[in-house]
Amino acid sequence: MAEAAARSKRGGGTAGSPSPATPAKARRPAPPAVLRIFSQPHRRYNPLIDEWVLVSPERTNRPWLGRRDPAPPVNLPAYDPDCYLCPGNVRANGETNPKYANTFVFTNDFAALRPDSAMERIEEGLLRAEGEQGTCRVLCFSPRHDLTMAGMSPPAVRRIIDVWADQTEDLGRRFRWVQLFENRGETMGASNPHPHGQVWAGSALPREAAREDASQRRWWEATGRELLLDYAMQENEGPRVVHEDDDWLIVVPFWALWPFETLVIAKRPARRLTDLDDKQRQSLAESLINLLSRYDNLFDLPFPYSMGWHQAPFDSGDHDHWQLHAHFYPPLLRSATVRKFVVGYEMLAENQRDLTPEEAAERLRTVSSVRPDRQAATRSA
Ligand SMILES: [Zn+2]
Ligand SMILES: [Zn+2]
Repeated sequence: MAEAAARSKRGGGTAGSPSPATPAKARRPAPPAVLRIFSQPHRRYNPLIDEWVLVSPERTNRPWLGRRDPAPPVNLPAYDPDCYLCPGNVRANGETNPKYANTFVFTNDFAALRPDSAMERIEEGLLRAEGEQGTCRVLCFSPRHDLTMAGMSPPAVRRIIDVWADQTEDLGRRFRWVQLFENRGETMGASNPHPHGQVWAGSALPREAAREDASQRRWWEATGRELLLDYAMQENEGPRVVHEDDDWLIVVPFWALWPFETLVIAKRPARRLTDLDDKQRQSLAESLINLLSRYDNLFDLPFPYSMGWHQAPFDSGDHDHWQLHAHFYPPLLRSATVRKFVVGYEMLAENQRDLTPEEAAERLRTVSSVRPDRQAATRSA
């Protein structure tokens, strides 16, 4: 009920907010067979990782008696003397952070990968193992303890994009896969609210990378085109688009697993963040702020998520089949306190979602793309 109220409250967006990127008139009506399938349990194919997801649209109506996560704390201080990421503070290993002004990168004090692991392989019947070398770094997005990416200015987010690209270039010289990611919010395991991301780089192609590499290569070999550019074309102005400009398309993918999952796709061929020119980086900063503000406005809270970039691996051979993109995986389902769990049928059979991707996109499209604090400023002005 609160959800319906929130929806009607925000329906049509907030006065003064930028209009939705895709005009409603451009949306194509779906054929009756599609509407019929989409209103009942059905499966959708994810061509990026070659697997299916079960969609059960009616299940969001069921009563919820399970876990409710507490709403996260608000009103953080701009500087926290106990935070190991704030400028000038001492970390657990005894090192002191510099008094950085913009962004700051350091090697994780408790890294999951190290550059000097033994690289032997063992193979005994069904038992296989191999050494893995790599490194893990922490990327502080801002010296301000209380900011989030949505709350930063476009130039500040642009600096994060530049750091992502620089880390990609640097680590790509030594490692095959560079995984940039951010866990935001306690529900996603982020132990510290200070705005920060991570980069893990390793000598192997991890699971998701290997699957996406194989799928994109197959499509490229069959059609001569990039799978995700074809997908972006198919989604153009469709019911799953959340935000779009000349350079970027943000959609709730047709095959999304997480309730408000989104895919951020570069609209022109780009293998990695390092391929992006000045204009693409600028518009990416604005697109990310737009998306994250929508997320924060959806349930009136700093929206938790795991996000990360997928870019071409650094190995021999060509990577023409690769298209740069980012995934956002937020766990919240119906409110600030009801989250989706990947358990039971999903662990044992296949992934399942309740809300359809079209409904999720509609809700993200109609919610304001203006940050909550700026809305307050607009209202009082
Ligand atoms: Zn801090
Ligand atoms: Zn991907």
